[in-house]
Amino acid sequence: MSSDPSMIENGQAAVVECIVQRLRGASRILLCSHERPDGDSLGSELALGMALERLGKQAIMFNADEAPLHYRFLPRVGSLTHTLPGPDDYDLVVVLDCGGVERIGPALTAEKPIINIDHHPSNSGFGDLVWVEERTAAVGVMIARLIGALGVKVTREIATCLMTAILTDTGSFRYMTATRELFEIAGRLAEAGADSAEISRQVFMSQPRHMVQMAGEVINSMHFEYDGKLAWSEITQDILLRNGGEANVPEGLAAQLRNIEGVEVACLLQETAPERCRASLRSAGRFDVGRIAQQLGGGGHHNAAGVTLNVLYPEAREKVLAILREHLSE
Ligand code: AMP
Ligand code: MN
Ligand code: MN
Repeated sequence: MSSDPSMIENGQAAVVECIVQRLRGASRILLCSHERPDGDSLGSELALGMALERLGKQAIMFNADEAPLHYRFLPRVGSLTHTLPGPDDYDLVVVLDCGGVERIGPALTAEKPIINIDHHPSNSGFGDLVWVEERTAAVGVMIARLIGALGVKVTREIATCLMTAILTDTGSFRYMTATRELFEIAGRLAEAGADSAEISRQVFMSQPRHMVQMAGEVINSMHFEYDGKLAWSEITQDILLRNGGEANVPEGLAAQLRNIEGVEVACLLQETAPERCRASLRSAGRFDVGRIAQQLGGGGHHNAAGVTLNVLYPEAREKVLAILREHLSE
């Protein structure tokens, strides 16, 4: 894959060039992405890590949480560390797919330059070099371009990670972000050896039975309000314990609530701990759930967003539902 500067969003080419120079000048680079990683954060982090290694750099790939089981097929996923290295172990940080530094999990206290590469409209603009493309489907797309700009060959392993990032953040090319340019990049990744059918089998078609059973419970107990425009359901600790106790939510469950005729906004609430609630919001297009999540202290995109609330579950649930009802009654 070669570098194509015309594919970098208007006005961003200069910052990408600066990022290339910074990466070339560093020797030990810490890569981070958001906690509870998804296909885009993992795929982007592993792909950039492997590309930097090909340039002779040491790449430390950190994530606060372990990769969910359905991402364990990713090349080099075993190299991820869950302990933040000491400040003497790296000289540059790259944060990927992360709207704010707090989403990394532990605080980055070492005073090292930070490069912020993201596609969330809610990105806070943290860091020394900021490359945020709101309209780009996945950070994996930006990493594909960055790797091109670095002059590194896209191996089958790198291509597999980037294709995973794209497939997961675009709902397998079903959203508006699926542009001609995206298909071109995906085509080049396929040429480099990424097998999208095999990736889809691993990520979307290998759900553990108990997860699907849990999804069944969640779907069976969904609520509809505002003439079916709002759909919501919940995964309480009780439901979780009855179904194997794994904290990971089945891939695409929040979207399933949104994919119902007439639903404009869907919300999946999860009681992740006694005083911790995670809300996943999905929109069919009319409502900007990224903005709604921001009102609650979270963030995300127009059609997919989330927030974590550190209060007792019933209180968190009412807070999220109250904001959603406010928007739906407008
Ligand atoms: P999720 O519902 O966890 O799949 O998240 C949906 C989208 O919103 C993803 O793009 C997340 O990266 C983003 N997102 C989720 N939670 C937050 C948050 N607290 N702050 C910013 N973005 C978030
Ligand atoms: Mn993500
Ligand atoms: Mn993403």
